[in-house]
Amino acid sequence: MFRCTDCGHMFESGEERVWEERHGFTDGKAEKFSGCPLCGEPYDEIKPCAICGAYPEDEYEDGELEGGICKECLAVGVDEYFDKYLDDRNVAIDFYIGSTDGGGYAYTPDEAVEILRKDYLAYAKQSPENARRNRMYFLEETDIDDFCKWLIERK
Ligand SMILES: [Zn+2]
Ligand SMILES: [Zn+2]
Repeated sequence: MFRCTDCGHMFESGEERVWEERHGFTDGKAEKFSGCPLCGEPYDEIKPCAICGAYPEDEYEDGELEGGICKECLAVGVDEYFDKYLDDRNVAIDFYIGSTDGGGYAYTPDEAVEILRKDYLAYAKQSPENARRNRMYFLEETDIDDFCKWLIERK
């Protein structure tokens, strides 16, 4: 799928407008051009979200998706599957220690994760916006592409 960088029109391969220009010469090799079928302006190739199949909205002007998934799917993933991701990737302790006061717990790492998780989830319930910001910050600091990959795999 392609999208015009000027008017935003989306079109399939083969629908683009094509033309040739000879730059004033009547013979010789013509240069080939292509553009948006509506307005003739340049266009970008755009890829659908690997989870919901939606195409990126206008705000992604270059057609880029974060890790191959759209903003909405990323937000849902961060809200609903973040804890599972932390466990799967074995980074829960890093996240909870970084996002809570984290100190003073004389427990085994597994116990500590559970205690910190409980604290964190209580906090997340009180301030969901801050919690989402924490999670996004953690992912951006570590490996948001890996999180997107993980979300796509578990689909
Ligand atoms: Zn156009
Ligand atoms: Zn999506």
